[in-house]
Amino acid sequence: MVCSEKLGFLMTLFDTFEPMAAIATTPQAIQLLHPLCHSFEGTLYIPKTISLIDTTTCHYQGSLKAHLATIWSKNQAFVFCLATGAVIRLIAPLLNNKASDPAIIVIDPLGQYVISLCSGHQGGADHLAQLIAHHLDATPIITGASHNLNLPAIDVLGLPFGWRKGLGNWTGVSHAIASQKTVQVIQETGSKLWQENLPQNHPFYFGFGEISENTQPAARVWISATHRKFAETSTLPKVQWYPRVLWVGLGCIRGTSQGFIASAIEAVCQQYHLAEEAIAGIATIDIKADEVGIVQYCQEKQYPLLTYSADILNTINVPHPSEVVKQEVGTPSVAEAAAIYGANYWFDYIGNREKTHLEKSLLVTKEIIKSETEAVTIAIAQSELDYIGKTGKIYLVGIGPGSLDQITPGAKTAINQADAIIGYSLYLDLIKPLQRPGQIVESLPITKEKKRAQRAIELAKWGLTVAVISSGDCGIYGMAGLVLEELKNTNWDGNNPNVEVFPGITALQAAAARVGTPLMHDFCAISLSDLLTPWEVIQKRLTAAAIGDFVTALYNPRSQTRQTQIIEAQSIFLKHRKSHTPVALVRCAYRQDENIILTNLGELLHHKIDMLTTVLIGNDSTFFHENWMITPRGYNTIS
Ligand code: SAH
Repeated sequence: MVCSEKLGFLMTLFDTFEPMAAIATTPQAIQLLHPLCHSFEGTLYIPKTISLIDTTTCHYQGSLKAHLATIWSKNQAFVFCLATGAVIRLIAPLLNNKASDPAIIVIDPLGQYVISLCSGHQGGADHLAQLIAHHLDATPIITGASHNLNLPAIDVLGLPFGWRKGLGNWTGVSHAIASQKTVQVIQETGSKLWQENLPQNHPFYFGFGEISENTQPAARVWISATHRKFAETSTLPKVQWYPRVLWVGLGCIRGTSQGFIASAIEAVCQQYHLAEEAIAGIATIDIKADEVGIVQYCQEKQYPLLTYSADILNTINVPHPSEVVKQEVGTPSVAEAAAIYGANYWFDYIGNREKTHLEKSLLVTKEIIKSETEAVTIAIAQSELDYIGKTGKIYLVGIGPGSLDQITPGAKTAINQADAIIGYSLYLDLIKPLQRPGQIVESLPITKEKKRAQRAIELAKWGLTVAVISSGDCGIYGMAGLVLEELKNTNWDGNNPNVEVFPGITALQAAAARVGTPLMHDFCAISLSDLLTPWEVIQKRLTAAAIGDFVTALYNPRSQTRQTQIIEAQSIFLKHRKSHTPVALVRCAYRQDENIILTNLGELLHHKIDMLTTVLIGNDSTFFHENWMITPRGYNTIS
């Protein structure tokens, strides 16, 4: 166990924005930004007149304006605690264009507001402002139109899925969306999860055809692997996203150069009107894993290189098998078979789908391109699933008992950071205000916890960051254990997907806080649900808790199908405890329909108890005073 790695907690929440620079010029501003710099890999720049605090702080040399110019291109984001006007004057000369400028955030000295000032979409400032705001428990100020219409910004739409942006009139399309005009979306490939998560009144029209006789689209979005040239004379703003779905199967004679491979792939793509931006990766036979030209080409383009043995490639039916190739490498096809396998790579990661009709994915059959000394064979197959190219993450998040102010800032940040949120619908409703436009939100019924865990793992293995939501604490009768168990069943290596756990206030703490201090002495929690635990085990624990005089919190006390367990629990306790032992029945703590009943062990069944209730049974010295339930700190009276 390497404990130091654990110190990186919370860091992954901000890692897409690193390196980050923070700028503070007053002691108050430094106090605000310094802890933030511990949560992300950032440097806090302060004036020479103020002493350095630790290695995360650094003096800026000369004027702040000149200093900013030197660190501008080295950072993805800048967080200022300075007057907004001053920040605008400082950064104005450095701004270049919104595709490459860093995210600019301004925080007021009291830490109440976090403003997304510049590069809201592509620079990620809108997103970062929300993350920092949740982290500081502040209010994010986001003025972009799409955010305020609860729509994903069109110029960052495909980023979670690893899509590449094409050319086009991005400002024109964004403007049409902001004006809530009809925008036609023609999506030929790539994940459609984003479509399923749009608000009801979104402005998109999906499909090729005429919208209606009277409605013309105000803009068009293409999402495809096909390269489209937009006529410069067209007045209709158009843009294109390229999901990375093309797998190029490659064979070559030894020594073929990187340049020859690059131009051959370019030529084949052009011939078939395919966009090189849509290439996910390269696939070939394992004996080519060290082919210098292929390796260099993949490195330069940052493509993954998948290699397969002749035996594996042999198992697939291809349109153009070659006896010559078979004699040489032991399989009749390299390019076509490898392309097909590449395009179906995700079966190995995601599984649980049937590997049928693999051959159907082949888009371009074998093309041979040769010169006197060099030769490549190229085939292209299209994957059903976009290649994201990132290691996915799972955040296991406890959201506390119900109200937003009972969620930790870390948990809020994790929810806001995630690409996808999975949980039971009641809890998803509770955290709606923390969601970001464009997030994938999936609910599954309360009884389908295992399915929820499997879905989270599937999305994370694909490459998304997934927040799995539990009420209370995720590790106390929550989803965290289920997800880790499922991961273990998939031979998880402990790192991929990366997992982080965010604790929450559990029901027993929340219930206790609403009635006083019943947990002041030794206590335990027992779930009365015998769906996954034999009732005999639960009986044994109830008896032990009753004999041991533990203050006891009963979770899952009664459901529609489990009516008798609470009756038996009461009778077990009555064998060892007095019938006037104080009991609190706390239903829906910190939610709008909260209800609290103070009663005793003998009478607790006279009141409503259900799955939204936590039953707190006091110990021998617990007492009620007015409406408060109090367990003394010890058994000996403090004088
Ligand atoms: N992970 C949750 C527990 C889930 S088990 C946690 O740490 O709190 C579900 C049980 O928790 C419910 O049957 C009920 O007994 C209790 N519970 C959850 N939220 C509650 C709330 N807001 N008020 C009272 N009890 C609650």
